Amino acid sequence: MEYKRSSALFAEAQKVIPGGVNSPVRAFKAVGGTPIFAKEAKGAYIIDEDDKQYIEYINSWGPMILGHAHKPVIDAVVEKAKKGTSFGMPTAIETEIAELAVSMVPNIDMIRFVNSGTEACMSAVRLARGFTGKDKMIKFAGCYHGHSDAFLIQAGSGAVTFGSPNSPGVTQGTAKDTLLARFNDLENVKEIIAQNEGEIACIIIEPVAGNMGCIPPVEGFLEGLRTLCDAHNILLVFDEVMTGFRLAKGGVQELLGVDADIVCFGKVIGGGLPVGAFAARKEIMEHLAPLGPVYQAGTLSGNPLAMAAGLAMLQELNEGDVFQRLHDKTAYLHKGIDKVLTEAGITYQINRIGSMISVHFCEEAVVDFASSAKGNNDTFKKFFHGLLDRGVYIAPSAFETWFLSDALSYEDLDKTITAIEDVAKTL
Ligand SMILES: *Cc1c(COP(=O)(O)O)cnc(C)c1O
Repeated sequence: MEYKRSSALFAEAQKVIPGGVNSPVRAFKAVGGTPIFAKEAKGAYIIDEDDKQYIEYINSWGPMILGHAHKPVIDAVVEKAKKGTSFGMPTAIETEIAELAVSMVPNIDMIRFVNSGTEACMSAVRLARGFTGKDKMIKFAGCYHGHSDAFLIQAGSGAVTFGSPNSPGVTQGTAKDTLLARFNDLENVKEIIAQNEGEIACIIIEPVAGNMGCIPPVEGFLEGLRTLCDAHNILLVFDEVMTGFRLAKGGVQELLGVDADIVCFGKVIGGGLPVGAFAARKEIMEHLAPLGPVYQAGTLSGNPLAMAAGLAMLQELNEGDVFQRLHDKTAYLHKGIDKVLTEAGITYQINRIGSMISVHFCEEAVVDFASSAKGNNDTFKKFFHGLLDRGVYIAPSAFETWFLSDALSYEDLDKTITAIEDVAKTL
């Protein structure tokens, strides 16, 4: 049987790790079955513990934009490791990567490095609150900003609703400061602002959503948020943990030409090591300790191995035409999937921007959380397992985006399209 060793490893893991995984999305709960255990990966391929090879469309949920075990990144980490792995003192490489990031991303003067996307978003909101002297924030249903308390608030169906926690352990006190809005619905945001006039510190958003499938903003939506924020003294926070250094050198700010006040990073910026960061113009960043009163810290923040990986990654992204190549490859895949699913008579939607793409098994356009949730999950499960069996690894949930890496060849894409054609016959 395939997946034999993975099944055995999963059984062992469950005895000592809750659910056998250190992050819930890995557990295959949405699709059923046993998670496959990764053994190693190179370029566009991952090999599991049963020595089966897959063409990769998760890429560590985004970071491996140049493919796995990319030589310049690995070399940089190995060389650094020989000189010590952590000092608790400032190092030159932190300034080097900060300068590079600031030069690549529009509209930021300073950046602070942390250890995850969660930390970046959590710190960005604290900074926005400290800077504006206000408490509340608006987030959008279906947008994910990490697992810190204030973000784990469920979508209510009412147009304007106080958040209620969707994880035990998040207090009502925390939840009441998180206001929920509908993605791509500017009128909804206006109403919420009107009902909380003078109390909102920031609006945080994935400017291209990637955690309810891939959902680009409709025309005028981000621009409208910018205008509202300016009119009401609210900071606009772009959570570019997924889109930063993926959709363009300068992320969505550059791609769609809308400026944020604070930008959060993670995933690609760490080259596969644990890194997050948040950045803004000087006036805002100077509110952070030790310059200002807003506290934020980290024993391993700016860790030399993580900075070496991130720097090698950003340098390469800054030089080449990676983003155009990725765009072309993703457009090619889109066209191929369109053809085979249409021929098979399947009802579906495909959303795509840059190297992010998602397939939804539903009739209507997917523009927000509610429309994304209408996708047929039984069809998705079959689709997922069918592809897995045929050696194509996509994320184990209909709410996840596929991330292409530059290591994918057109031959890999053709093989993927053929696998999808094959699976479509079984749906
Ligand atoms: C992954 C992700 C996060 C959380 O990052 P972690 O490194 O997992 O803590 C936050 N925001 C967005 C948009 C993400 O995709």
